[in-house]
Amino acid sequence: MCLFCKIVNKEIPANIIAENDDFLAFHDINPKAPVHILAIPKCHVDSFIEVTAETMAGMTTFMQEVAKTVKIDKSGYRVITNIGENGGQEVKHLHFHILGGTKLAWGHFSDSDPKNNL
Ligand code: 5GP
Ligand code: ZN
Repeated sequence: MCLFCKIVNKEIPANIIAENDDFLAFHDINPKAPVHILAIPKCHVDSFIEVTAETMAGMTTFMQEVAKTVKIDKSGYRVITNIGENGGQEVKHLHFHILGGTKLAWGHFSDSDPKNNL
């Protein structure tokens, strides 16, 4: 069973913010912003590549509610999902990073020259 499935099953503790039948949100163990939450589907999905439109519809509403719960909906925030090897995905259970609580930098993404593909 993968790490996030163990969190869903409460075999590994997590600081849970919100939960319903289908989705779970908890604080990232290694936060990269004052607010750094992970939102996941409870049913295992490897990554964004496999997720259905139906799951994404529920995930969208769930993440909007989470942002309201932690009061970053008015100030703004960022939603990121890392996908596969080049996306830098470490945990192979679909998760969305919800980052906020400060003005976020728009950072450095790779050492390749992005203009090469223009
Ligand atoms: P990825 O790099 O796969 O997009 O992000 C995985 C995220 O999961 C990282 O930000 C990492 O800090 C977080 N993470 C890894 N293990 C745990 C854990 O056991 N508990 C929690 N709450 N977060 C974790
Ligand atoms: Zn899983």
